[in-house]
This record gives sequence, C-alpha cells and structure tokens, in this order.
Amino acid sequence: MKDEVTGFLQDLVRFDTTNPPGNETLCANYIAEVLEREGISSSVTESEPERGNVVARLDGGDQETLMLLGHTDVVAAEPEHWTHPPFSGKLVDGTIWGRGTLDMKGMVAAELMIFLLMHRQRIKLNRDLVYAATADEEAGKGHHGIGWLIDNHPDMVDTRYVLTEGGGADIQIGGSQFFTVQTGQKGIFRFLLKAKGRPGHGSVPHDENAVVRLSQALARLGTERFPIHPSPTLKAFLEGIADTQDEQTASHLRGVLDPEQSDDALLRTPFDNDTIASIRSLLRNTLSPTMLDAGSKINVIPGEAVAWVDGRLAPGQTDETILAEIEPLLGEDVTVEVDQYSPPIEATIESPLYETIVDVVGSHEPDARVIPALMTGGTDAKHILPRRPDTLVYGFMPMKQREGEEEGSLIHGHDERVTVENLLFATRVLYDVVMEFCTD
Ligand SMILES: [Zn+2]
Repeated sequence: MKDEVTGFLQDLVRFDTTNPPGNETLCANYIAEVLEREGISSSVTESEPERGNVVARLDGGDQETLMLLGHTDVVAAEPEHWTHPPFSGKLVDGTIWGRGTLDMKGMVAAELMIFLLMHRQRIKLNRDLVYAATADEEAGKGHHGIGWLIDNHPDMVDTRYVLTEGGGADIQIGGSQFFTVQTGQKGIFRFLLKAKGRPGHGSVPHDENAVVRLSQALARLGTERFPIHPSPTLKAFLEGIADTQDEQTASHLRGVLDPEQSDDALLRTPFDNDTIASIRSLLRNTLSPTMLDAGSKINVIPGEAVAWVDGRLAPGQTDETILAEIEPLLGEDVTVEVDQYSPPIEATIESPLYETIVDVVGSHEPDARVIPALMTGGTDAKHILPRRPDTLVYGFMPMKQREGEEEGSLIHGHDERVTVENLLFATRVLYDVVMEFCTD
C-alpha cells in the first residue's frame, strides 16, 4: 500500500483547497472516483457551490458505528517561503511536501487507504464503518463541513465513534515514550470589549476618555493569570507521565495540578517551553486581545472604543463562569458583547475504542504508553459535540517525531511535510485499530 497511500496524499495536496474559499469539491470528487473504481458508492454533497463533502459507508454488524473523519480544506500558504511549492505534493528523499500533508490530508489519505482495504479484503465488520472527508474546518465558524452534514444529512453521518486529527504525535520525556490521544479541547469565548466615554476635543483632555478606559481594561484582562481548573484529561496526561519518572520529576508533574504551586511546578517539569506554555493555557481560561478599533481623527476624543478578545475556556467552564472571572476586571463603562461561544469538550477514556488504541499502540511500540491529551485549538469535534453530545471523538494520527525534526511544529507553517515512513506508520496503526475495533 506504500505507493498507493503516498499517491493519494500527493494527489490531494495538489488540489488547492485553501479556506477561504475552500473549493473542497475538488478533493471530494477525487475521493468519490477512487471509491467508485473500487466499487464503493459514495455521496458528494455541497453545502455551498464548491464546498463538497464526501461520505461512504461499509455495512457491518449491529455494534455502534465508527467514522473515519478528515477535513480536506487547508490554511493559506505563502509560496515564497517554501522550499518546494506548497501545492506540488512533491516527493523528495522519502518526504512528501505540501500544505495539508500534516493538517490533515495525510490522515484523509490514510483513512481512505484503510477504508479501501476493508472493502478489498472483504473484512466482516461487526459495525458500520463510515468514511467522511469534509469541508470547512480551518476557517472562521466552519458552517460548511461536518456540522452542516449533521444538520442536513443526519443519517449519512450517524455515528457513535469518530477518529480524526488532533493527537497521535509521540513525545519523549525522561527516557519514556508516549503517544497522545486527543480526547478534549478548550472551548471558545470570543467577545467585543466596548468602552463608552464622553466625546471631546483632543486639546481638552478629560477623565472619561473611552480609549483610556478600554486600554486600562485590556491591560488588566490581558495580563491577568486566571485561576486553574484542572480537568480529568489533564490530570490523566500528567499522571500518565509522572508514573514513569523519578520521584522528583513526578512530584513536579503532579504539582502542576495544585493551585498553590502550579506555575512554579510547571517550570520545573521536563517539558519544552512550547509545551509549558500550552499546559499553562490548558489549565485555565485565557484571554488574548487581538484587534482594536477607536476614533477616526487624531484631534477628536471618540465616544466609544472597541477591542476584540479571543477567549478560551478550560474544560468544565462555561460562558457564565468565564464572565464571572472577567467582570471584576472591566472597570467603569466597559462591557462585554459575546461574539462566539462554543463550550469546551472532554471525552471519557473509558471506552472500548480507547482500549483498542492502547492495545494496538502496545503491539507496535511495546515500550510506549498511551495518554489522553487536551488541545488549546480545535478540531471538528467542536462541530459534532454540540449537535450530538453522545459522540466520542478521539484525535489520533499516530506519528513518530524524529530527533531534531518536529513534524508537528510545521502545521500551519512554511514547508509543511510528512515522511512516507510516518504516513505508513499512521496507516498501519490506524488499520490495526479499525481491524481490532470493527471485527469480532
Ligand atoms: Zn486540521
């Protein structure tokens, strides 16, 4: 399957599905043709012109359905910064180059390969297996992909279990190796911060300047370190690592969950700086002011000033609990106007699918452990869970980081690429997960 899955990924990368505008129908039609050649029927449905989603199903027994889900849109690329053009899908010395190789056409290709193999090998499935390659995960509010399918073609994508992007990359800590399964992600709470004041002439300053009020509120919100709200997933992640470490390292890892010493303990853990920053965010609600708007003339004090703030919610938190943390910091005549709210997500690891992943990773990498992980960013889980709260969505694209070459850090960056070796590793591990989970 090496050449076949490599070819799928190269072909998929060559369709420019930068979102916006997306044009995911290019990928959807391609995949539908691949399935068609194999004798598998599929449906391509468009949420808007050129925003295509492709879904196919292999019928199986009466156990709860598993869906292999991927998104076919990608983020923009600036070709001038790339060694090989971002939509070339070039294969150079065992590495496939291009936007989407990691996020996430690689997994779309691997899942396609697995789906074809199940059909080709006439595997007797104990449950239905659904394959879905959908639009619109990367941009804005993502209304044209899996969420749209659930709203408009609910039967097509009816499932209990979903495997998609998110976790999977291995991490090495203190001589131990771990593979993550993403079981949760932070919520989104984006809002406009509006300060009202008294308009006036710039030559006569007064104490009710909206720009000053907004600035003071922003300075407070933007520098506040909110209290920690450790979630079961983060606890399991840190405990899972602590179990393999020496006593002192283990106590620093566990200390991260203790409000009294969290920040100091975190700095003493063996994580790299990026991981430390990300765990610090995963522990609590965070706010990042990102855009500003006030006034239109340098000599006129405006009556209003506005900032946009990107807020993220720790698991277990809601719009109400974050507002309770924000409100004491606002100050006079500053108000919050909610722009976007989607609650955090946290899936249980007490499930047969999670157990299967643990088993299969154990058979491929006997020394590695599987641990659940949270992500600061989002996946399509955020479109599924609000509509179908009983779905278990796991992010698992198994990959091995090679020393000095962190593929994960290329996601959304320049020179995104994946080794054929890693693509094959992912395909084999995921194939075994599907085989074990979907056969008796
Ligand atoms: Zn993605």
